[in-house]
Amino acid sequence: MAQTDLYKVLGVDRKASSEDIKKAHRKLVRQYHPDRNPGDAKAEERFKEIQAAYDVLSDPDKRKQYDRGGFAGIGGRPGGAGTGPGGFGGFDAGGFGDILSNLFGGGTSGGRETRRGPSSTRGNDLEAEVTIGFDQAVDGAQIPLSVPTSERCATCHGTGARPGTAPKVCPRCNGRGLESQGQGLFSISQPCTRCNGAGTVIEDPCPTCQGNGAVRTVKRYRVNIPAGVREGSRVRLAGKGEAGRNGGPPGDLYVITHVQDSPVFKQKGENVEVEVPLTIPEAIRGAEVEVPTLHGRKTLRVPPGTKHGTVQRLRGEGPPHLDGRGRGDIHYRFVIDVPASLSDEQSEAVEKLSQVINGNPRAKLFAQAGEGRAS
Ligand SMILES: [Zn+2]
Ligand SMILES: [Zn+2]
Repeated sequence: MAQTDLYKVLGVDRKASSEDIKKAHRKLVRQYHPDRNPGDAKAEERFKEIQAAYDVLSDPDKRKQYDRGGFAGIGGRPGGAGTGPGGFGGFDAGGFGDILSNLFGGGTSGGRETRRGPSSTRGNDLEAEVTIGFDQAVDGAQIPLSVPTSERCATCHGTGARPGTAPKVCPRCNGRGLESQGQGLFSISQPCTRCNGAGTVIEDPCPTCQGNGAVRTVKRYRVNIPAGVREGSRVRLAGKGEAGRNGGPPGDLYVITHVQDSPVFKQKGENVEVEVPLTIPEAIRGAEVEVPTLHGRKTLRVPPGTKHGTVQRLRGEGPPHLDGRGRGDIHYRFVIDVPASLSDEQSEAVEKLSQVINGNPRAKLFAQAGEGRAS
């Protein structure tokens, strides 16, 4: 059973100065460090307790809180005895889990990977781009995707230290990851300049990753692009970004979709538009015309006297909405197809037509303009 009096863990008096605490801690670390006690689980457990106790007592704020309310004072020790590994399960106050996961290769110390302290960082988000066809954007698609990223170094299991060695507790900050500058009221804590806040330093770096703990790699995915994406849509793949450091969560992967233009369907917001040519007689007399839909054909009734540019909508026949609820529309824009040249026969027919449809549709322009000036 772990001792719950942090002062007893470090073997110091409740009134010990911060210098006394530092000294006691240093001595105990030397004695119980896993490097000195390979394979000794008891020493390892003791070492964890020492680090946890030091984490609290070396920080004046946490120490004050602890003095006031014991474990409850520092963010709550859940439920009393025996709840966490070594009785320290509630300690999230900073750095402890991270130091351990550094020292013991991460994840080996009883689910502490989820612990987050100042030195655990979320992995970076990644961005990748894919180009898909118009049909794939409408229907959704599985797209193979290669993403350059980093992953935990297999040689050192992410510690960054040469196999057989381990990162050492940082001598500058004693594992806190922070150092204070200034005095009294005006002291500022900032990430340790020696270890960059990790709390540990690597004296003998891993030859594979040069001490990074991570190596560059290319991850290959088959990405499900949802139906309804458009040019520039961002598809988020949670947790597929870069790996987190020191037990931090991974970042996300954002896939930006580029959609090839369709020669027929033009994207207009959440709808698509299709230009439908009509012959002059069809526009004049009306007609039933076949038009393409996203997945087949439909017949539209063109009313007599349809003007150039008239739009007919087919509701709900457009691309699906990205949220999965409903679809956009297809807008059919009628354009009157005017032949660039005429055969003799057509020329004759147009001549005849011009004799019977021969008013001056522009007359009213002048009439209305004249009225405007007169009034
Ligand atoms: Zn390595
Ligand atoms: Zn440091």
